[in-house]
Amino acid sequence: MDNSDNICRTCQTQLKRSVDKKEIVGFLEYPRRSLIVTFPVKMDSGKTKLFTGYRVQYNNALGPTKGGIRFHPEVNFEEVKTLAFLMSLKCAVLGLPYGGAKGAVQVNPKELSKKELERLSRAYIREIYAILGPKTDIPAPDVYTNAEIMGWMLDEYERIVGRKEPAAITGKPLCKGGSKGRDIATPQGGIYVLKEALKALKSKYPMVVIQGFGNVGMGAAKILYDEGYKIIGISDSNSGVYDENGIDIVKLIKHKDKTGKVSGFKGKEISNKELLELDCDVLIPAALESQIHKDNAANIKAKVVLELANAPVTPEADDILFKKRIAVVPDILANAGGVVVSYFEWVQNLDDKYWSLEEVLDKLNKKMVKAFNDVYKKAKKMKTTMRKAAYKLAIDKIMEAEKKRGNV
Ligand code: NAD
Repeated sequence: MDNSDNICRTCQTQLKRSVDKKEIVGFLEYPRRSLIVTFPVKMDSGKTKLFTGYRVQYNNALGPTKGGIRFHPEVNFEEVKTLAFLMSLKCAVLGLPYGGAKGAVQVNPKELSKKELERLSRAYIREIYAILGPKTDIPAPDVYTNAEIMGWMLDEYERIVGRKEPAAITGKPLCKGGSKGRDIATPQGGIYVLKEALKALKSKYPMVVIQGFGNVGMGAAKILYDEGYKIIGISDSNSGVYDENGIDIVKLIKHKDKTGKVSGFKGKEISNKELLELDCDVLIPAALESQIHKDNAANIKAKVVLELANAPVTPEADDILFKKRIAVVPDILANAGGVVVSYFEWVQNLDDKYWSLEEVLDKLNKKMVKAFNDVYKKAKKMKTTMRKAAYKLAIDKIMEAEKKRGNV
């Protein structure tokens, strides 16, 4: 089973668990529009290579669709479809005027030169531009794509349509209309939600453990460390470190930059399995999917699990954690900061007025706090998990809009 099977199975199960009516499950079981393209790219050698790309627009009841573009050698249609479904729910939970989409190209970007990567990015946009647009479908960066790639893609789109259209793609470089704060939006949004969760659960001075030390895990660690939180465990794909007195994150970042890994840093070396089962208050999975599963869920000791990764907890583990009264803040809420600031970027582009970092963070905080409280109250009322409550909230909003359109 590959990762896409895991994510698909998790999301399908969560969808079926969250709505009781078969009619709704049927309505949201398939994307509204899917495009699969195969296109040629000239390599530096002079030879032409064919690549496969996807763009899936899952549901557009609440607005134009929105979602990242991923470059990955193993990406496939099922995975893109599932991620587009999750984007639809994420936008709905956060109250954004968007539907959900996702795009991808099956490629290992590490094997391409910079010029090849640029030609591939532009070629992909030429294939899918007809279904994009600031009021239709707005891409953003995702795994192995970044602001520079978004800049090339936007430039290609603007050349085709023959006008400046900065709101057509978000996550752009600042000089091309990007938003301040976009680079830290995902971990920062997650931390705003975490603080609210700790308030609701009346937990003070928590000890934190983080799995993953990439964009999101490192970003979250840095924000928490700067705010005086004690991080006692942290890991990457090799292994983890544990220090009951707290890890100096600034020094760990330098160590990781120098050696490429977390291991070897001051503290006790531990495995990823041990890290997840550490005695702590907050556990933040920020690496891969399906990390907490039926075989280790019973050993989790945290009081709060903040899902910054997508689908890190399987449905079976969700049940076990709920019985243990461990609060899981679900991915579609916890890691939505990126799409929220993408929305802010789009608004600034349409308005042609640009905000300071303080304004962006203040607005992000308000959006995340409101979404958390909506989900938390719903979960209390339904006597269920925050995940089921978040799915229910999102699906109700989407189905209400579909009803008003006369589609249901
Ligand atoms: P990344 O590639 O920058 O970092 C991933 C980290 O996980 C790395 O430190 C890697 O060493 C570590 N890792 C890999 N396998 C591991 C394992 N088996 N055990 C422990 N650590 C392991 O990726 P990222 O952008 O930080 O994304 C992390 C997660 O957050 C993914 O699930 C991604 O889909 C999700 N996410 C990211 C964003 C974003 O803005 N980057 C937004 C929403 C969700």
